[in-house]
Amino acid sequence: MLLKKNEPVKNFYDVIVVGSGLGGMTAANKLAKNGYHVLLLEAHNKLGGFATWFYRAQRKYVFDVSLHGFPVGMKKTCRKYWNKEIADAIIPLKDIRFDNPQFQVQTDFTKEDYTRVLTSQFHLDPKKVQDFFDFIENMNFYDSQEMTNKELFEKFFLGRNDVMRFLLEPITYANGSTLEDPAISYGIVFSNFMNKGVYTFRGGTDYLIDLMKNELLHNNVDIKLQSKVEKFLINPENKQIQGIVLKDREVHCRAVISNANITSTIFKHVGEEYFSNQYIAKAKAVRLNTSSCQVYMAIKLGETIPAIGDLLFTSSAEQFNTDLLLGKNITSRTFSVYYPSTRPQDQEPRYSIVSSTNARWEDWANLDDEQYKNEKHKMIEETITALEKYIPSVREKIDFVDAATPLTIRRYTHHPRGTSFGTKFEGLEVSMNLHKEISGLFHAGSVGIIMSGWLGAANYGIIQANEVESYFFNQNELKQKENHANITC
Ligand SMILES: Cc1cc2nc3c(=O)[nH]c(=O)nc-3n(C[C@H](O)[C@H](O)[C@H](O)COP(=O)(O)OP(=O)(O)OC[C@H]3O[C@@H](n4cnc5c(N)ncnc54)[C@H](O)[C@@H]3O)c2cc1C
Repeated sequence: MLLKKNEPVKNFYDVIVVGSGLGGMTAANKLAKNGYHVLLLEAHNKLGGFATWFYRAQRKYVFDVSLHGFPVGMKKTCRKYWNKEIADAIIPLKDIRFDNPQFQVQTDFTKEDYTRVLTSQFHLDPKKVQDFFDFIENMNFYDSQEMTNKELFEKFFLGRNDVMRFLLEPITYANGSTLEDPAISYGIVFSNFMNKGVYTFRGGTDYLIDLMKNELLHNNVDIKLQSKVEKFLINPENKQIQGIVLKDREVHCRAVISNANITSTIFKHVGEEYFSNQYIAKAKAVRLNTSSCQVYMAIKLGETIPAIGDLLFTSSAEQFNTDLLLGKNITSRTFSVYYPSTRPQDQEPRYSIVSSTNARWEDWANLDDEQYKNEKHKMIEETITALEKYIPSVREKIDFVDAATPLTIRRYTHHPRGTSFGTKFEGLEVSMNLHKEISGLFHAGSVGIIMSGWLGAANYGIIQANEVESYFFNQNELKQKENHANITC
């Protein structure tokens, strides 16, 4: 049930899931479907984590924060672990465009169309292109992490910065990958996208999360919002999870899945003293991914804008490089355009545009209030000017505008340094081994680039829910063996 602010949770659950991002919710739903008694606690006043939206001007306008595009695999994950209604609302985005000093491209982001563009527009040898796709499709998690993205592109397309930009830019926006990250994470994610193009959710994020909430309640998950977990309770003798601590009480359980950031989970919610030195050394070496800025623009009701693509990757930078992509002087923006077809349920057609840019925490964190306000204003102004290149009269049509920075992200999701995509690759091993250090404690949140983004997070929720079930199974086996030994003694 959905517990109101003053309604108490029960004293004991099989599993407590801390955080309702797509990883946390998907794990909670799977375990509840399989008959476990699950409590889902969320610090914010709504479910979804980054999969979120907000209304403005008395709900006249709605903005999606991270509904820009995800791979087709999300359809299968939702059909299997959520329900048909959710899976059926996942539809392809047809019109993806690039505009920068090196090229202008329109594509549906399928492998076939990418091959067409690479061979006909970039004049690459078809065999080279096929070899590249074969190479990345055969990459898997256990491969060497030595090769970086830059080295991967140089191996196949030496000296072709334009090709590198075309292949990497969309993935950078999808999960923060840079030229310096291991090629294996790029290969896995790019192959996922290239499977059948880029997808979205018809109805908007608010509709998706509402359907997910109903499914969780249908499967008897207890949900409590505005419930920030302060600490995890660990038995110091056997290093076993016992429960969690809320502001005013403790709740006990057999297992916890933390959907909070992996570094917060280890250092804030548990405490260094509970872990082996070797594990802590690895955890301290985990690098967080970078953050994002967004500008949200609503078009006046009754106005229309022309079709300029669903996703428009723009840049004024002559060449593609990581510093320019993350820099405070914004040169790259991805415009996600939400036409009335995004929310066919609306009585009045609505258009909105969200501009996303990768960003560094330190560029925003050290400003005083006045500077912060001015920088935000500057970002909004420059973004509208950049958009005017594609919709000349757009400034007059915009009725509402707002912006988010890395500080906004930290405020709403508690992710350190406002990281949008969890951790770099090394975070994956630390996350996966958490339960080997503290029995009964698991982590299902964005890590390692691969387990991030809508599909990565949801799939990681399933992987960790399976781990919880194996843990319960092994515990039962152990208990049965102990009982048997007691009887035979
Ligand atoms: C601007 C932006 C755009 C993006 N665009 C895309 C996109 O187009 N496509 C795509 O696939 N991905 C995109 N992503 C990434 C994607 O949204 C995330 O990777 C994914 O949603 C993360 O899910 P998660 O399970 O890791 O949890 P998160 O979304 O990180 O949620 C974690 C939840 O845990 C809660 N929490 C944390 N600590 C506590 C605590 N102590 N107690 C209780 N609750 C707690 C938080 O409040 C939060 O709700 C984008 C991300 C950002 C920031």
